[in-house]
Amino acid sequence: MKIARYNGGNIGVVVGDRIVDVTRIVGVDPVEWPPIGMNRVIANFGSLRSAINAALASAPSEPLEGVHLETPIPWPHKLLAMPGNFAAHSAEMKASPFSVGDSKGADEQGFFMKSPASLIGSAEAIIIPDRPGRTFHHECEIATIIGIGGNDIPAELALDHIFGYACLIDVTMRGAGERVMRKSFDTFCPVGPWITTADEVGPPDDIDMRLWVNGELRQHAIANEMVVGIREQVAMCSSVTRLEPGDIIASGTMSGVGPLVPGDTVEITIARVGSMKLAVTSRVAAR
Ligand code: MN
Repeated sequence: MKIARYNGGNIGVVVGDRIVDVTRIVGVDPVEWPPIGMNRVIANFGSLRSAINAALASAPSEPLEGVHLETPIPWPHKLLAMPGNFAAHSAEMKASPFSVGDSKGADEQGFFMKSPASLIGSAEAIIIPDRPGRTFHHECEIATIIGIGGNDIPAELALDHIFGYACLIDVTMRGAGERVMRKSFDTFCPVGPWITTADEVGPPDDIDMRLWVNGELRQHAIANEMVVGIREQVAMCSSVTRLEPGDIIASGTMSGVGPLVPGDTVEITIARVGSMKLAVTSRVAAR
């Protein structure tokens, strides 16, 4: 199942080229604050699923291309992320002028966090802040969405705790400065276009990940090339901090990172999960 947030906090299920409105069926108030409706849908999915399925034939729907897709979980309890998690990316960072603490791998470093306020959906734009002389990069990643929380989840049980997956771009300011801050500017974490549930994706090991800038393929890898695999990410994170429904873990990126500048268009495709294309703009243009 592909579950989306759209048009101001509504919850929908994507079926082919249409989106079915299940907002009332899942009991979400689109204008609630804080916007934690999707967190509750994920936490209660076991009991909601049959009602959602039953509604798909009769609930109102509209063409997907006409709606404004928002990031599916705008208020996660945690937005966790893997640093260097593909060997070829760690090597390219070590060799780059931007080599700082970023160059060590996830197996040595563990995870870091991004501000959840950096989350945006596929219909929004990445806004490059006014920081003269600084370089901003795209990082193609898979978002793993936690369904059943817990502490100390063993890797061999991790898939039972995963609700689904989404595309994620970990936008990063390179160079000096605390990693958490460099990756936490508003709009620096597009996640979407929806959540594809884990049962539909299947085992994540062979998922093909690609990212293009202005139509040029910049990044490409298979998920099983990760140093710390998706199951092990869940185990590592939950050995430190209790995972909750709706928590997001960013997988880390492969080699091929490169600059994003205002005027670019960046596109990411995660096989069996989804695809999204975003504009890149400047803060001045966005005002
Ligand atoms: Mn990253």
